[in-house]
Amino acid sequence: MGSLPPLDAPLPLGPEAFLDESRPVIDFLNGYYRDIESYPVRPDAEPGWLRTLLPDVPPEHGDPVEAILEDVQQHIIPGLTHWQSPNFFAYFPANGSAAGLMGDMLTSGLNVVPFSWASSPAATELESVVVDWMCKLLGLPDRFLFSCGGRGVLHGSTCEGVVSTLAAARDRALRSLGHEGIVRLVVYASDQSHATFQKGTSIIGIPPANFRIIPTSASSGYGLTADSVYDAVEADIASGLVPLYLCATIGTTGVGAVDPVRGLGEVARRYCMWLHVDVAFAGSALICPEFRDCINGAELADSVSMNPHKWFLTNMDCCCLWVANPQVLTSALSTNPEYLNNIGKGGTEVIDYKDWQIALSRPFRAMKLWVVLHRYGAAGMRAHIRRHVEMAKWFERMVRADERFEVVTPRSFSLVTFRLRPQNELEDEISVDALNRKLLVAINTSGRAFMTHFVVDNKFVIRMAMGGAMTQMRHVRDAWKLVKEKAKEVGAFPREYAQVREMN
Ligand code: PLP
Repeated sequence: MGSLPPLDAPLPLGPEAFLDESRPVIDFLNGYYRDIESYPVRPDAEPGWLRTLLPDVPPEHGDPVEAILEDVQQHIIPGLTHWQSPNFFAYFPANGSAAGLMGDMLTSGLNVVPFSWASSPAATELESVVVDWMCKLLGLPDRFLFSCGGRGVLHGSTCEGVVSTLAAARDRALRSLGHEGIVRLVVYASDQSHATFQKGTSIIGIPPANFRIIPTSASSGYGLTADSVYDAVEADIASGLVPLYLCATIGTTGVGAVDPVRGLGEVARRYCMWLHVDVAFAGSALICPEFRDCINGAELADSVSMNPHKWFLTNMDCCCLWVANPQVLTSALSTNPEYLNNIGKGGTEVIDYKDWQIALSRPFRAMKLWVVLHRYGAAGMRAHIRRHVEMAKWFERMVRADERFEVVTPRSFSLVTFRLRPQNELEDEISVDALNRKLLVAINTSGRAFMTHFVVDNKFVIRMAMGGAMTQMRHVRDAWKLVKEKAKEVGAFPREYAQVREMN
């Protein structure tokens, strides 16, 4: 048996240890953000490379914080994709902020676990206040407010919210169908909906064959039309199936398409389907009245989810989920072991957020979202969103004004999709795609920007998603310059181009 440590050994969370070890981390992060533009946005890392640099087993005796930070600088930073770089335009942003970090420090510093009201009353109550604030800020219908019988919760991700609402809808339907009815339930989404709906459908036990992917087209801006859902539902009913759940998205991941919520809501009501509205990314823009039309009809929805960890300056992770009828959700997700029951104050009148999610334990996410709102205010957040939308408008104008390129789908919020257009009528789509793939690889291997792609209508498009907390107009201008420079390098501009107008 090894010897016991001395009883007076320093405590891992003692006040001195805490200050001595957290200050160097703040200094380190300060240096990281100061120098972030000097790192290639996406690393040139080989798979498995980090394993060759680190020991096979953890150290027997711990190292001081300085040595750990040195390892981070030497071994970890060079292999990171720098999501907070102002030149990060890939996927959708996961922007953070000083307030987001401050909130996150409070969250992990206090390190409470609010799975039930009694397990941390103020954390539970702050969560219910902050989701109401967000509901009002986004202009969602009152039915999602606590005072009107609806309620919100903070999950870690949209995926978790989707599985939870699918389970709620399933259980509601199976109450009348009986458990064996699960094989008859059908979930509807579009070919632009996030993959999480398909995954969630199979997680909750619905046969994969009962997941309908309804095609969209350019004529509806890649939005899911109510007519197409109606037709799919009617066909399923005729085959003895039962429509369960319909997903509408505002701001799809690929091209930022906006589904017509009211039309879809009317179809959902007609067939007693659960309507979920996914505003993961674009929900942040709903705080600006000029984007509110998108949410028209949300009073017909059963649930809405939005990710503050994308475009809302809230460090990972945070997803608001609102439900109009919380009881349906909690009856699907509740567990009531004796050891978790509130004894004394609280009783059964209070919220136990464990019954609103998949896991039991959960962090105090409300703190960081509350700090962000507290620090920047609604006006500050609107200005933040509008800045990125203006940048996207500028980028879109540049692409449109240069006849070598085309904007492939209409700009949506702060997302622009573009590509090199075919160089003449004879060029086939396969070679245009190949050229655009080469262009994207050249942009990203430069390390000066990072963008990602999508395929829509069989066209390979490059996505330029604005949203970095440190992104300024100069970064967007540089990105456009980079696109043009790399386009030349990959041989995109032979003589056939009639009049190439160099912009800027
Ligand atoms: N829905 C949409 C429209 C998204 O764009 C994304 C992620 O980009 C998701 C859902 C998944 O979000 P999460 O990673 O929080 O599960």
